Amino acid sequence: MPVLYFGTEAQRQKYLPKLGTGEIKAAYCLTEPGSGSDSLSARTKATLSEDGTYYLLEGQKMWITNAGFADLFTVFAQVDGNKFTAFLVDATLDNIRLGNEEDKMGIKGSSTRQVFFEGVKVPVENLLGEIGKGHKIAFNVLNIGRYKLGLMVCGGAKRACEMTVKYANERIQFKLPISKFGAIKYKLAEQATRIWVLESMNYRIAGLLNDKIEQCKADGKNDIQAKLIAAEEYAIECSISKVFGSEVLDYVVDECVQVHGGNGFSEEYNAARAYRDARINRIFEGTNEINRLLTFDMLMRRAMSGQIDIMTPAMAVQKDLMSIPDFGGDDDDDILAADKKAIREAKKAILMVAGAAVQKYMQKIEKEQEIIMNLADMLIDVFTAESAILRTDKLIALRGVEACSDYIDMTKIYTSEAMERIQLSGKHAVCAFTEEGDEQRMMLMGIRRYTKYPAYNAVAARRRIAQRLIDANDYAF
Ligand SMILES: Cc1cc2nc3c(=O)[nH]c(=O)nc-3n(C[C@H](O)[C@H](O)[C@H](O)COP(=O)(O)OP(=O)(O)OC[C@H]3O[C@@H](n4cnc5c(N)ncnc54)[C@H](O)[C@@H]3O)c2cc1C
Repeated sequence: MPVLYFGTEAQRQKYLPKLGTGEIKAAYCLTEPGSGSDSLSARTKATLSEDGTYYLLEGQKMWITNAGFADLFTVFAQVDGNKFTAFLVDATLDNIRLGNEEDKMGIKGSSTRQVFFEGVKVPVENLLGEIGKGHKIAFNVLNIGRYKLGLMVCGGAKRACEMTVKYANERIQFKLPISKFGAIKYKLAEQATRIWVLESMNYRIAGLLNDKIEQCKADGKNDIQAKLIAAEEYAIECSISKVFGSEVLDYVVDECVQVHGGNGFSEEYNAARAYRDARINRIFEGTNEINRLLTFDMLMRRAMSGQIDIMTPAMAVQKDLMSIPDFGGDDDDDILAADKKAIREAKKAILMVAGAAVQKYMQKIEKEQEIIMNLADMLIDVFTAESAILRTDKLIALRGVEACSDYIDMTKIYTSEAMERIQLSGKHAVCAFTEEGDEQRMMLMGIRRYTKYPAYNAVAARRRIAQRLIDANDYAF
């Protein structure tokens, strides 16, 4: 991807066809022993030779996927001490040394090694992009990588859900298949619901990216420019996909192990491997903590630069809070009316908490990470629940309500609980930055008001969803 998006025509001609066919393989060298999340502080150095024909590369990269067999390394290094820059480094060059294969917890089928550049002469034509603009390459590639990770974990989660259902149908205890027990049905339904919500969000992001790409092309941008603009525009959504997707997968594989009982703890079954393999997804492509921080940070930057207006709606929410609650106005014929209203209101809760927190801390808000985590969680819950509602709404329009009962169940199971989580996150945040008194009371009241959801029998809904899985003996949606 770095070559595709940032390479010169000559670099693309040289590498892309062979990368496309798999004749050569690539690795991405950003992380170092001293710089992981703080990737821009990398210490690897690139020094231009006196005759100006090559850069001398010296440094150490760590955790490099594909390192054992890569033909091409994209390496990030500092030019003149502080100009973060990317280079394309052929593995055939002299003075590249590999560390041993890492002894990893999971994904043992992938090669992960350290790569040492011990005075490697990289021809100047292998500079990638511009000197000092390496961060653009690193971050854009990560944006797209995060979205891809969200898709990949969705596939993995479906597979683990399938394994869980099959085992639950086969395993007999107390003279019954364990899939007959409500406690197991809960797990099956919850696995499927979270996967379905994740998939709904991923489709939504794909649609947003596609629309933006088409719009940019219509405005005269070429394909590459259009894709980069789209990836930047939806960087927040890509981060959400990564965070939510990796956490859905973790839930699914954890319950997969649990449903397997003792066998889940044995390497003779695939559940153990799925459990180990899943864990890395919360760590690479930016840890989930870093992605949660980024989600809020990107939103704030856009607000500060005037790209989006948060303060006007935040002020409107403060006024709304003083007014008498509106209990009417919904379309009673719409089976998702309560869910749509819940999302509209939950957005107010986010605006209220974010607006008040920013007013209190101003620029120093970035030091209040716990509050940012709460806000990021609220955003994730709203975006994911809304994605499920939008998808179900479309499916209902296409197929009618009757044919969509499973989707309606899953949407309501998820949205009803998302509201409770949003309430809790909002409460924690507000209590962290307000003192006991009128202001705090009013804000807590606001949060309760904006996160209401009608009484809902999620037990019955989960039983219906679980039954679909049990009957299909597979992930059924
Ligand atoms: C199997 C595997 C494959 C990998 N493949 C590649 C690859 O191909 N190329 C590559 O360049 N890298 C790769 N990585 C590296 C990976 O991207 C990093 O491990 C990851 O970014 C985290 O960096 P770190 O390990 O240094 O952890 P650290 O940055 O030290 O983080 C440790 C903990 O502190 C938290 N933390 C750090 N900073 C903050 C902060 N500001 N605020 C709050 N919390 C913070 C983190 O969230 C984490 O929980 C791979 C890693 C693994 C394990």
